[in-house]
Amino acid sequence: MKALTFQGPRSVRLDEVAKPSLNGPDDALVRVTTGAICGSDLHLYHERVPIQPGAVLGHEFVGVVEEVGAHVSRVKPGDRVVACFFTYCGRCHYCRRGWFSQCEKKAVFGYGEHFGNLGGGQAEYCIAPSADQTLERIPDAVSDEQALFVGDILATGYFGAERAGIEAGDSVAVIGCGPVGLMAIMCARLLGAARILAVDMVPSRLEMAERLGAVAIDGRSVHSSEAVKAETGGHGVDRAIEAVGLTATIETAIHSVRRGGTVSVVGVPDTTSGEFPYMKLWWDDITYTGGVCNVPAYMRRLLDLIEAGRLDPAQIVSHRMKLEEGVRAYEMFDRREATKILLTP
Ligand SMILES: [Zn+2]
Ligand SMILES: [Zn+2]
Repeated sequence: MKALTFQGPRSVRLDEVAKPSLNGPDDALVRVTTGAICGSDLHLYHERVPIQPGAVLGHEFVGVVEEVGAHVSRVKPGDRVVACFFTYCGRCHYCRRGWFSQCEKKAVFGYGEHFGNLGGGQAEYCIAPSADQTLERIPDAVSDEQALFVGDILATGYFGAERAGIEAGDSVAVIGCGPVGLMAIMCARLLGAARILAVDMVPSRLEMAERLGAVAIDGRSVHSSEAVKAETGGHGVDRAIEAVGLTATIETAIHSVRRGGTVSVVGVPDTTSGEFPYMKLWWDDITYTGGVCNVPAYMRRLLDLIEAGRLDPAQIVSHRMKLEEGVRAYEMFDRREATKILLTP
């Protein structure tokens, strides 16, 4: 089968690799109909996360079930499904408490040997382990393109907005308007935010944020947190969602909220430790939360919201390309020339 594989720093390749087959009774074989490139794929592309050359990339995909193992009962051949970006067992200490993203057997699709060594979805076929957990059936009224988002970035945007504690009438700042930030804007609106301020430095992303109903703040021309404060009577927003992961953007989020506000970080931190404004958080009664999205807890309800017409994540798709164009797609996405790229085999 055709697949995009990692080759080295800033190097991916369209390869012909063996079609994967079921490894156990809990697996399903999925024929991928649409995959996507995610911002976190760039961590691999830039070797910030190690992955072995030749590994098949991609953790955002939808497809049709082609074959299932003997223990799989929730999906069957012919079902259209979306995959959670990671697999989880459903039985361990954390899964039994509903915190699937901390599963003791968690593995991430297309993310290398440190994350379970699973094949990825930027390919014609992919094996979904623990298929009853990992895969969710797609309602007829929801397109493949829409469904693809619930397995990672829409869930992450919703998780960020929910953990920010957004209530009707709140003002919200979204720091970073890449795909996850744009999802967070949609979800903040859904949860009742009255005003959403969108901070970024890429014009196309700010334009999309405005189209989604946010007020754009261009960090190239203003001091971001001061601009947020100026827009909120000098106080700062009720809630800030950070969707980048840089120390500087996390600080912008902290300095953008009012006293007693909430900062919710979903951006993958680019550093393991560093200075942190402990005193400000304490003195200003700021609630700080962050973490890996517990995706499976949200997939079903997000599909229902899309089906009901309350969310349309596919509107951020900027490029639809063939898997064969994957090398160019990675280059474009890396240069921020594309907001969201879908790849079809
Ligand atoms: Zn992702
Ligand atoms: Zn588990």
